[in-house]
Amino acid sequence: MAKVVINPRIRGFICLTSHPEGCAANVRRQVALAKKAPGSGLGTVLVIGSSAGYGLASLITTVFGFGAKAISVCFERPGAGEKPGSAGWYNLAEVHRLAKAEGCQLETINADAYATATKQQVVAALKARFGKVDLVVYSLASPKRSDPTTGTTYSSTLKPIGRPYTSASVNLDTDQIVQITLPAASDADIASTVKVMGGEDWGYWIQALQDADLLAPGCRTVAYSYIGPQVTHAIYTAGTIGRAKADLERTAAVLTTRLAPLGGHAYVSVNKALVTQASSAIPVVPLYISLLYKVMKERGTHEGTIEQMVRLFTGHLAPGRTPVLDAEGRIRVDDWEMDAGVQAEIAALWPQITSATLDTLGDYAGFKREFRQLFGFEVPGIDYLVPVEVEAPLV
Ligand code: NAD
Repeated sequence: MAKVVINPRIRGFICLTSHPEGCAANVRRQVALAKKAPGSGLGTVLVIGSSAGYGLASLITTVFGFGAKAISVCFERPGAGEKPGSAGWYNLAEVHRLAKAEGCQLETINADAYATATKQQVVAALKARFGKVDLVVYSLASPKRSDPTTGTTYSSTLKPIGRPYTSASVNLDTDQIVQITLPAASDADIASTVKVMGGEDWGYWIQALQDADLLAPGCRTVAYSYIGPQVTHAIYTAGTIGRAKADLERTAAVLTTRLAPLGGHAYVSVNKALVTQASSAIPVVPLYISLLYKVMKERGTHEGTIEQMVRLFTGHLAPGRTPVLDAEGRIRVDDWEMDAGVQAEIAALWPQITSATLDTLGDYAGFKREFRQLFGFEVPGIDYLVPVEVEAPLV
C-alpha cells in the first residue's frame, strides 16, 4: 500500500494515469442522481462492461435507482504499489463500497468478457449466490476480441467504407482543427470490426445463461448503439462501426425470438454521443461533441451518461413499462440530440468552426474537462496535491 500524488498523463485520446479519489467522487455524483429516480423490482441484473461510460451508469441506475441485485463484468487494472489502476477499477471500487454500505448485493468479475471462461465464472456465481437473471445489459466497447471458438484475435477499426473520407477533426494533443483523411476500410477491416463490436458475443452470453437455465421468466436484454448526424455519418453509421451496430440490431431480433418462450425481449437502445474513453477515440466525434454540448447546454437539454441511463430505465425498461420503439424497433434516448433544431444549429456551426473559435462556437473546454474527469482529474472538491492510496479493493 502506497500513497502517491497522481497527475494526468494524457496522450491524445488516452490517459495513462487515473485518480482514485476523483473517480470515486464521479461515482458518488452518479449515485446521487440515480437515487432521485427511484424505483424497484428490477430483480437481478447482469451488466457486461460495467466499469465506465454507459455500462457504469447502467449499473449505478439499476442498483441504486431500482434496487437491483447485480453481477458485473469488466476488464480493468487494479492499482499496485505506486502505479495507479485504471479509472474503471476505481469507479467500481467506489460502487462496491457504496453498495456494501447500503446492503446491496453486488459482485464483479474482472476478466475478458469475450472469453468462455468468464461466462462460466458468471454462471457459477449466479448459480451459487443470485439465481436467475431478469435483465442483461451488454455495454462493451473494446478495440480487440479474441474469438473463443478459433483463438483468432480481431481488431475493431474506425474507417469509412467504399472510399476515403476527409473531414475537419480536432487534434487532442495540439487543440488545433486539422483536416484528416481516413482510408477506406478493407473487407477484412469490416469483418473484424463486426466480430469485435457486433452482436456475436452478446448472443454467446444469452446462450450461456439459457444453457444454464439462468434466464428468469420475462428476461430482457439491452445493448447500446449510436446513429448520430450527417457530419459523422461516413465515419460512424456508414463506416465499419456502423456495420457492427447493424449486426447488433440483427442479433437483437434473433435474441428476441430466442427469449420469446420466456416472455422476454432483446432491445437495442440508441444513446446520445457523450465523452467516454470509447467515443474520444473516434476521429471527428470529439469536434462534433464539442458543438453538440454547446448547443444542448444552451438549450438546457444536455445530459451525461447517468441522466441518459436514468431516462432509459425510468421511461422504457423499469418494471411495468413498455419500451417505446422507433420504426426499426429500437429504443431512442438520443432523441434530444437528434432533435431537428439541435442538428440544424450544429450543421450551421460546423463549417464556421476554427481552432480559434473552438471555445466560442463550441464547448471544446467542456469536452476536455469531461475527458479528464473520466480519469478522475479536474473533479471539483479534490485536492490533487494530496497523496492518495492507489490500491482499492472491490469489496
Ligand atoms: P467505455 O469505454 O466508457 O466503457 C467500455 C466498457 O467495456 C468498460 O467497462 C470496459 O471495462 C469494458 N470492456 C472493454 N473490453 C472488455 C472486455 N474484453 N471484457 C470485459 N469488459 C470489457 O464505452 P462506452 O462509450 O460507454 O460504450 C459502451 C457502449 O455504448 C458501446 O456499445 C458504444 O458503442 C455504445 N454507445 C456509446 C456512445 C458514446 O457516445 N460514448 C453513444 C451511444 C452508444
